Amino acid sequence: VLLAVGLLASIVAGAAWSGSTQNSAENSAAATAASARAGLSQNLQDDADVAGTIGTLVTVNPGLTNSQLSQWYDIDGGKAQHPDILGIGYVENVAPNQLASFEATAEADPPFGLSQGALGGFQLNPPGVRSHYCLLRLGVVEFDLAPTVGGAFQQAAAALSTFLNPGFDECSIGRSWALNPTASATGATVASLTGLVARGESESSAKAANAAITAMFGPVKPICEGIPVYSTGLVPTSATVQQPDLKGWVVMIVATDPLVSSVLASQHSAALTLSYREPSGPSVVLDRVGRAAAGANRETMAVGPSGRWIMNLAVPEPSGPLSPKGQGAAVALAGLLLTLLLFVLVRVLAVSRSQALTLVEQKTGELEHQALHDSLTGLPNRALILDRAQQMLTRARRNNTAIAALHVDLDNFKDINDTVGHAAGDDLLTEIAVRFRSVLRDTDTVGRLGGDEFVVLTEGTRTSATSRNSGAVEVTEETTARLVADRILDSLRDPFRLGDRGSLYTVTASIGVAAGERKSGEDLLRDADVALHEAKLVGNNRIAVFTPEMHTAVVDRFDLESELRTAVRHGQFFLVYQPIFDLRGLRIKGVEALLRWRHPVRGIVAPMEFIPTLESSGMIVEVGRWVLAEACRQTRLWHTAGHPVSISVNASARQFESGDLMIDVCSALELSGLDPHFLVIEITESVLMRDPATMAERLHELKRVGVSVAVDDFGTGYSSMAYLRQFPIDILKIDRSFVSDMTESSEGEALVHTQVQLAKALGLDTVAEGIEEEAQLTKLQLEECEYGQGFFYARPLEAQDAEQFMAEKGHMVMDETAHMMPMN
Ligand code: C2E
Ligand code: MG
Ligand code: MG
Repeated sequence: VLLAVGLLASIVAGAAWSGSTQNSAENSAAATAASARAGLSQNLQDDADVAGTIGTLVTVNPGLTNSQLSQWYDIDGGKAQHPDILGIGYVENVAPNQLASFEATAEADPPFGLSQGALGGFQLNPPGVRSHYCLLRLGVVEFDLAPTVGGAFQQAAAALSTFLNPGFDECSIGRSWALNPTASATGATVASLTGLVARGESESSAKAANAAITAMFGPVKPICEGIPVYSTGLVPTSATVQQPDLKGWVVMIVATDPLVSSVLASQHSAALTLSYREPSGPSVVLDRVGRAAAGANRETMAVGPSGRWIMNLAVPEPSGPLSPKGQGAAVALAGLLLTLLLFVLVRVLAVSRSQALTLVEQKTGELEHQALHDSLTGLPNRALILDRAQQMLTRARRNNTAIAALHVDLDNFKDINDTVGHAAGDDLLTEIAVRFRSVLRDTDTVGRLGGDEFVVLTEGTRTSATSRNSGAVEVTEETTARLVADRILDSLRDPFRLGDRGSLYTVTASIGVAAGERKSGEDLLRDADVALHEAKLVGNNRIAVFTPEMHTAVVDRFDLESELRTAVRHGQFFLVYQPIFDLRGLRIKGVEALLRWRHPVRGIVAPMEFIPTLESSGMIVEVGRWVLAEACRQTRLWHTAGHPVSISVNASARQFESGDLMIDVCSALELSGLDPHFLVIEITESVLMRDPATMAERLHELKRVGVSVAVDDFGTGYSSMAYLRQFPIDILKIDRSFVSDMTESSEGEALVHTQVQLAKALGLDTVAEGIEEEAQLTKLQLEECEYGQGFFYARPLEAQDAEQFMAEKGHMVMDETAHMMPMN
């Protein structure tokens, strides 16, 4: 098909090309002809103008002499202006009765200035009486006569003596030279000079005459043009009017060469034929220039003012190695070659296509594998795991199989990475992937989610012992999943050899398990993740199985966090103040600022419900900053009102870690104008123990500006009293649990005693928290605990109530204030 179409197209294209080339050749020939016609017409018009002017001269001035005509012609520009005019003459229409006077004039003023002697005297030729005679009266030769006098012209004149003799009747020459007053023609008449001479001369002298012409004019072929002159100056409309008016003829000898060669100057390869056609006679070819090539484009058209000049122009096809047809054939051939090439190409392509397809398939497979697998371990990635989980769920629905997803997270991978470097960390992950696979069945899938997180999908038949409806199904699924989780933890038991030195490292993992039917694979993996979170909360190397409550907890945590963000933005927090009193005099010593949340729906929310979320989300830093500023501002107001109380503010670990605590404390003091010695920062024991060195540094900074430090909830952590010595602490707050225990048992009482005694040994003040009963107060007073805080004395109060409280209970101690302040 390709070959056939190509062949057809080539032929059509070739024909179209040839046609269009031919067309353009014809167009160009037409254009050449038009320009040739314009040039030639212009030349002929010039000549006609010269003739017209001479006719007028002769009419106006019948006695015009040869020298006058010559002078006028020189003024008109002569040969330079009219290169084609070789000679000009005037032939008079002489009536028989004028013959004698004409003869006299001619002898006195011979045409061309040729002496009558040279021409053998005036001889009427042919002799006889006729109705009229056409006799040469004036003649101007337009080539240089002087060097030829007695030379070429004289010889030629002798040869042409018959012709040039003023007695020669030109009307006798005959039809082709129709200077005939009786003729119906009104226009000019033209003949070739040689033809004319041949007729006018006797046969013997004609040869010599033509030889003379050739000698005179060289290769130029002169023609003779006769233009009638009428006495009215106008060309008569009919022959009847014409006869009496006809005065004579302006005769011009014109070289056609300059006429046509100027036309052909730009078209060297063109051929031109110039003819003249009498109104009734045949056309006579006057000149032929150039040789027309075969197949040239021919244009024939009338030129000049009279419309009797005929120009035939042959313009060859545009030069070039090929004719339009040849070019068409070349185009067709090129098309055919192209078709052949295309055919070969298509063949080659068809053959290599299958190879390419195979290659593409192979590469696509590789890319697909890359897109769905982890590049490090080669395990399925999250996308593939999700897909497999989905398939597993579909199978479970159809075949009632037991399924589970395990989310495995390495416990201390970051530490290992930091210690042995990332390359060794990568090796560890690869090794772990191998171990995981070794403890799983082929039907199970293990994938890597990224970092140190892996997922295992397990699938198995349910044991026949389980009933589908009893609810034991879940137990079985969970139990199976737990077994797999245990195997995974077991696989990590042997230490790994890592790093350049091949040191041994132990790795543990936490696993969250989600078993059983879910809506989607995503749900199954999400539940496993929630369970993993729970496992991590408990500690390392644990397994947690998902329960719906876990999900609720996650959702709640999420909701709470977003609500807290709103609370921060809308300023829903406020502070309450719980008085701290001196146990001996029961007088107010200071207050502890405690945070509250005014929830738009739930009402006032206690800190234990939201502080952990503020801490985990990091919002505690911003909220804590506000607490510090607000507490200091309020305390400063109380000072101004005459209540010089101290203010205790709780700070969480995140505030210390952020590094902003010191700045926040300073700006709160500066803004409020509160004396730093009245500010106490409370931190829990566990915060102290996280990063003892940094904490000690930070606490020293606080001390330097005059702020006191209290250890909150003391005794609930694991730190020993001796350990506390490295920190610059002022106050120990004995936790509420010890206070409530001290009245319950003797051990509880002993514990409080020890704590108070040890604090004294370290030079610290003690504050007992959560005093609810008088018995507790009494015992603490006996133990010589300095300060106390509890519902028994005062609940946390809003600022206004707290001030009221100070006014009532604090006035007694105004003079002893210094004693109640923490001693730094
Ligand atoms: P905390 O610093 O140990 O504060 C004392 C807590 O014991 C307060 O609970 C207080 O209301 C409660 N309390 C005082 N006397 C008694 C009593 O006789 N019986 C009982 N049952 N409780 C008593 P609250 O206000 O719920 O605060 C709980 C904890 O929240 C605080 O324990 C403190 O750790 C934390 N917290 C409160 N406000 C802030 C704060 O602005 N920033 C930080 N980081 N934590 C705060
Ligand atoms: Mg506290
Ligand atoms: Mg406490």
